[in-house]
Amino acid sequence: MNPASDLPWLAEPLANALRQQRGHALLVYGPTGVGQFEFAVMLARAWLCETANDQRAAGLACGQCASCHLVDARGHPDLRVLLPEALEEALGWASDEPPEESGEGKRRQPSKEIRVGQVRAALQFSELTRGRSRHKVVIAYPAERMNAIAANALLKTLEEPPPGQRFVLATEAADRLLPTVRSRCQAVRLELPVRDVALHWLAGQKVAQPEVLLAAAGGSPLLARDWELAGVDSATWAALPGGVRRGDASVLSGWPVPRAVDALQRVCHDALSLAAGGQPRFFAGLRPAPGAQLSELLAWSRELSRVARHAEHPWNAGLLIEALVTQGRDALGGDPGQRGRR
Ligand SMILES: [Zn+2]
Repeated sequence: MNPASDLPWLAEPLANALRQQRGHALLVYGPTGVGQFEFAVMLARAWLCETANDQRAAGLACGQCASCHLVDARGHPDLRVLLPEALEEALGWASDEPPEESGEGKRRQPSKEIRVGQVRAALQFSELTRGRSRHKVVIAYPAERMNAIAANALLKTLEEPPPGQRFVLATEAADRLLPTVRSRCQAVRLELPVRDVALHWLAGQKVAQPEVLLAAAGGSPLLARDWELAGVDSATWAALPGGVRRGDASVLSGWPVPRAVDALQRVCHDALSLAAGGQPRFFAGLRPAPGAQLSELLAWSRELSRVARHAEHPWNAGLLIEALVTQGRDALGGDPGQRGRR
């Protein structure tokens, strides 16, 4: 990753954050998919950079020194990154913290939380070792994935940090952090980039018809890019509402349940918006379904929310998605071309 140039919309907020930084802990927050984690790494890279301050514009990392290279190679000894195991691969940043104990021979699902053991190991490391830099930096992302025990372990050090210690807590759900943790941090809010900047960036990532996927992702370029990488291209996306109206669950075949449910929620959102005389948000150009029933759409919406809350349970994925699509078909009034054949 060459962070600063990779996500151009973060350059200005980064310069501002470096200029305005006062405390030893920053809370980087904002809507999903702005690049909170990448921003946290850029902050750490700037703080750890070894080029003299007066030779760097706006306190930004030089990108040339040994420290910058170590961060880019994900091997800086003074940077600890706390991630849930389940996210390590997606972010390309393996944790070097001790693995959690598990029963002998049992395969364990990768943890979706930042565990207290990870937090303690990072803090101990900060206190006990002398690094190469003036600073030591701990990044936690998504910070709300620390459970209460892990957050409390961090809180003690947030209150009385060792000299030179810095923290970046990065999150897409700041409201789910402990208030005591939030209040110890200087808040840095990130915003979604304006549409043209996002479209230009997506085109540079070889995303075809970027406007379709950008709308699909609610304006988040990183989310749009992730979907494209996961095989959801703009044609697949644009075909979803029609597929649901036909009751054809095969438009979602092979999708992981959480992604499929999320997509159906977006179909439902736009159908509700159109039925109420509003505009679609996620499917540009979508027209109101003539047979749509508001009360049935609301019931579908409630059912989708209910499933989304439990989407990590071991469902029979095929049956679940089929049932949700059938409910959606009925709420949308079905496909006019197929009426009477059911
Ligand atoms: Zn540097």
